[in-house]
Amino acid sequence: MNNYTSFSQIQTDLKSGKTTVLGLVRDYIYKIDQNKHLNAFLEVYTDEALHQAKEIDKKLADGTAGKLAGMVIGLKDVICHKNHKVSASSKLIENFTSLYSATVTERLLAEDAIIIGRTNCDEFAMGSSNENSAFRPVLNPHDNKCVPGGSSGGSTAAVAARLCLAALGTDTGGSIRQPASFCGVIGFKPTYGRVSRYGLLAYASSFDQIGPITNTVEDAALILEVIAGKDSYDATASSKEVPHYSKELNFNGKAKIGYITECIDNPHLDPEIAANLRNLIDKLKSEGHAVEPVSFPFLDYMVPTYYVITTAEASSNLSRYGGVIYGRRSPNAKDIDSIYSKSRTEGFGEEVKRRIMLGTFVLSSGYYDAYYTKAQKVRRILQDKTLEILKTYDFILLPTTPDTAFEIDSVHDPVTMYLEDIFTVQANLTGMPAISLPMGKHSNGMPFGIQLIGRKFEEANLLAFSNYLYLNK
Ligand code: GLN
Repeated sequence: MNNYTSFSQIQTDLKSGKTTVLGLVRDYIYKIDQNKHLNAFLEVYTDEALHQAKEIDKKLADGTAGKLAGMVIGLKDVICHKNHKVSASSKLIENFTSLYSATVTERLLAEDAIIIGRTNCDEFAMGSSNENSAFRPVLNPHDNKCVPGGSSGGSTAAVAARLCLAALGTDTGGSIRQPASFCGVIGFKPTYGRVSRYGLLAYASSFDQIGPITNTVEDAALILEVIAGKDSYDATASSKEVPHYSKELNFNGKAKIGYITECIDNPHLDPEIAANLRNLIDKLKSEGHAVEPVSFPFLDYMVPTYYVITTAEASSNLSRYGGVIYGRRSPNAKDIDSIYSKSRTEGFGEEVKRRIMLGTFVLSSGYYDAYYTKAQKVRRILQDKTLEILKTYDFILLPTTPDTAFEIDSVHDPVTMYLEDIFTVQANLTGMPAISLPMGKHSNGMPFGIQLIGRKFEEANLLAFSNYLYLNK
């Protein structure tokens, strides 16, 4: 049984004949079946993946294969894949089939990646534990009593349990990095606009980004270079040229790193995670990097600002699911009004409804200026302050999560759950790229990550430094 953690190992074994793409896919399908209890996948494309594997083996033999030939990938269930279901882990669109593929899906397939299945997530990507999935919670492979984090928990659990080599997740406020930290894998959120959102079921459009979840920085870089770049279907996708990230992973020289004192000294940060970060700071200093404390006195504004703006955007984005064009129509509906109200009441889960109501409230006349406009102004202040720090420093170093994975069904208060995002939302509010790297193991046995935020569109530098950090840990 294969236990590959990097694409380069797979490529070596494919070249030497030690394995074939068909063999790989068979292994992954077997392992997915053995690990069904994790609920990481909502659907596995067994026949299709086996068929594709044979085709790619032929292409490899005649030298026409793409650069992801042999890479087996899981796709978060909010990314469209033509003629395949996409449900956002919601009952409301449980049986919806994509009419077209997302740009990222097309780009992966064009390079001969194999999409093995769609991965479970929080409903419409709203959540930090995967418990909001309408189709069973995902279990953390390191301890099945614990959550994998969210919302891309199916993707991170699948990569951590080696059910696929890599996966795509989406990150609106931390949904790639937080579950990556909880599952002990790498999660990368690109700069807003680096990757096309065409074909992604929108949650909060000015935040959403698609990114890779992997076991090596090199694989994250490779996937990013395939999926990034301009797209005539998404006006927010940047036309800036895409570097060869995977070829630029050697970090030479010294970095200038700012660590946010309000994060490291935060009373809610687990002491072992704080100690690990402090050790890392000392180690980096001893290696000659400039690592200095910086103050970011707005930590308390981060989560409220994030939740005002994202719920506003969500209430607008999710208005299309009314049982008329999209989604299940309630059999109890009698007229046009009840089609909408009953279909939405019966189809959406509790958290999604909470956010739609909150978003509608902050956008309502009379409250608009007090909440929505105010939050946009605060967002600008947070952006300006972050940009100011990144003028002096190449990277900002901070924890990914305040704690390690918690037990399933242990957090019931929504605000406590929202505070899970305290360290991750900064990158989304400001549009910066950020990565979570697995850097430690807690005495409770669970993994945790540390986070680096880089400058906009300077993913190459961020990935190179991450590679240096991760390989030397
Ligand atoms: N936990 C955050 C939320 O619930 C982040 C979600 C995400 O990044 N998709 O909004």
